[in-house]
Amino acid sequence: MEDKKVEKQKYALVTGGSRGIGRAICVQLAKDLDYHIIINYNGNKKAAEETLKLVEEAGGNGEILQFNVADAEGVKSILEAWHEDHKEAVIEVVINNAGITKDGLFMWMSPEDWSSVIDTSLNGFYNVTNALIQKLLVNKYGRIINMVSVSGLKGTPGQTNYSAAKGAVIGATKALAQEVAKRNVTVNAVAPGFIKTDMTKELNEQELRKMIPANRFGTAEEVAHTVSFLASSKSSYITGEIININGGIYS
Ligand code: NAP
Repeated sequence: MEDKKVEKQKYALVTGGSRGIGRAICVQLAKDLDYHIIINYNGNKKAAEETLKLVEEAGGNGEILQFNVADAEGVKSILEAWHEDHKEAVIEVVINNAGITKDGLFMWMSPEDWSSVIDTSLNGFYNVTNALIQKLLVNKYGRIINMVSVSGLKGTPGQTNYSAAKGAVIGATKALAQEVAKRNVTVNAVAPGFIKTDMTKELNEQELRKMIPANRFGTAEEVAHTVSFLASSKSSYITGEIININGGIYS
């Protein structure tokens, strides 16, 4: 009997792929790499559909998968169900991009504003990555990329919650990288400065650009190029690294 080796279908998951940096990453991956792209979103289905359209226009293919990264049980059950439906699939690239801000001075920061930011960035990283890591190790190849921030490196006043969440993910990136390197799974983080997206639309660019050596905010595409490189096989000897994309802000 002929030994039919079923070719595994390879997927890249982008959390928070519906808007901003996540959307630019989905489109860049579609242009550069040969993955089916899973576009995760939380509440904004229309925006996720628009990302899928852009992915297809860029010559790629993908699908939309709703879950709230902060909801541990929800993430687990949705990803388990997804694997049930995709028995020959492997999610080889995991991009933990979903994130929110709830800015305010620490003195007046409510427990909700503290927890929701930690739950999304830090626990979101745990919930998604922990649900997929075993399969990556069995696959003996994988790329995990965490979206952190200049705030997690230097700390930003008015963002103790966000700085804490991103700083913690930086530590986790370095630790996990050492645990899984032998299996050809790399774990890196990308730390953007000010990037033009919905997250920063209320900020005063004219004022803030004075402290950015490049004298402007960056674009989501400028972040996506680095993420796409880290997601590729070309980055194989880079792991546990935090790459700044911030127009020269010293961090
Ligand atoms: P954005 O434009 O506000 O988009 C946020 C994305 O995250 C959306 O797709 C959103 O989905 C998704 N999301 C939020 N909470 C989620 C949850 N609980 N579960 C699943 N998805 C969730 O933000 P962005 O500027 O692109 O930021 C993307 C990442 O880069 C974040 O981690 C952010 O902290 C980081 N970052 C941004 C900047 C910047 O200047 N923009 C700088 C440094 C780091 P919905 O559309 O469904 O709401």
